[in-house]
Amino acid sequence: MSIDATHDPAARSWVELANEEGCDFPIQNLPFGVFAGKGSRGRIGVAIGDQVLDVAGAIETEAVTFSGEVASALSAETLNDIMSLGPPAWKAVRATLFSLLQEDSPRQDRLLRSMAETTMQLPAAIGDYTDFYASRHHATNVGRMFRPDGEPLMPNWLHLPVGYHGRASSIAVSGTNVTRPSGQLKPEDGPPVFGPCKLLDYELEFGAFVGTGNEMGTPIAIGEAMDHLFGVVILNDWSARDVQKWEYQPLGPFNAKNFASTISPWVVTMDALLPFRSDGPARQDDDPPLLEYLTPVRGSGDAIDVTAEVHVCSQAMRESDIPPMRLSRGTLANLSWSFSQMLAHHTSTGCPMRPGDMLGSGTVSGPEKDSRGCLLELSWRGQEPIDLPDGTQRRFLQDGDTLTISAFCERPGAARVGFGSCEATILPAR
Ligand code: CA
Repeated sequence: MSIDATHDPAARSWVELANEEGCDFPIQNLPFGVFAGKGSRGRIGVAIGDQVLDVAGAIETEAVTFSGEVASALSAETLNDIMSLGPPAWKAVRATLFSLLQEDSPRQDRLLRSMAETTMQLPAAIGDYTDFYASRHHATNVGRMFRPDGEPLMPNWLHLPVGYHGRASSIAVSGTNVTRPSGQLKPEDGPPVFGPCKLLDYELEFGAFVGTGNEMGTPIAIGEAMDHLFGVVILNDWSARDVQKWEYQPLGPFNAKNFASTISPWVVTMDALLPFRSDGPARQDDDPPLLEYLTPVRGSGDAIDVTAEVHVCSQAMRESDIPPMRLSRGTLANLSWSFSQMLAHHTSTGCPMRPGDMLGSGTVSGPEKDSRGCLLELSWRGQEPIDLPDGTQRRFLQDGDTLTISAFCERPGAARVGFGSCEATILPAR
């Protein structure tokens, strides 16, 4: 993929709001999502300004024309089919929709619907979800908390992107409430009890969607990995820390992570992210050399510079019209392992990936305190509670709290590209 006319920062759309400074969805972005059409049937749309372009509608009314295969994929109920077609098809669709929406083209208001009045669904049928642990700052902070006497990083961490197989069935789209889970909790003295999680946390992450997959037995080489990725969403990997602490040894996270993961509805394509890619990820001078299958190809731009912000709003804040409070701000550029390396490692055994599979980055934390990507780190296991403007404190999340993650890319010479938001409210345990 390469920069082309669809990335021109001077390009404008006949959808006026798309041209406003600070808009998440200018014509250079064109992220894909699925909205609820008639009878809640999924319909593919593209975000532009404050509107959703009905892509299937554009095909039906012949406002755009595609090859039969592409037209059929874009008329499906999820993005899986278009994801499976690969970069040439993605590039052609992007160019055609860009042309339809650019300022000089005739207005097509009948193909738009107000984003505020549109219900979004999961963008893809997610067959498999794997979550990684790619932030050195996060892994180091957690290591310091849980193994204060040992090396904070485990011996494997600098050699491979550590991950675990997650649960796809509980991935929900932004706006879906999250019920506080119950589980086995182990008091310091005494046997385990079953009850509502007391240490409910969020994790600021990004999820990369696999586009074209691979045959079982055939790994994806690091140099080809980026071409297998369709796009990126914001991911909140909700975590029950008390459940996690008791259950995680020796096989890793299980029920602490399987009750809910929230994603933003708009998949920002790898093509839209092209102006924000750079070589990386960074390794420190004394880090061990990478094995060949994980060594990034020079100039491939595997690292993506996306900034994310996390806000919390308690029920009391909402009732008193107090605006949400920012908890932290982080960047994906801080990750020590790229999505390419995750995909190359994941498939190095020959494990087949399928269109719509999702790879989670792991909690995105940076070196500063306000760039820590979860409450476990922000409150340092609850030892440093956070003051909210309603007069209460947070060590972990309470019922009624709304957590919102937003994200954007900005770089001189490029149009700003936003991700929208990933939001959910905590409901009491059942
Ligand atoms: Ca995670």
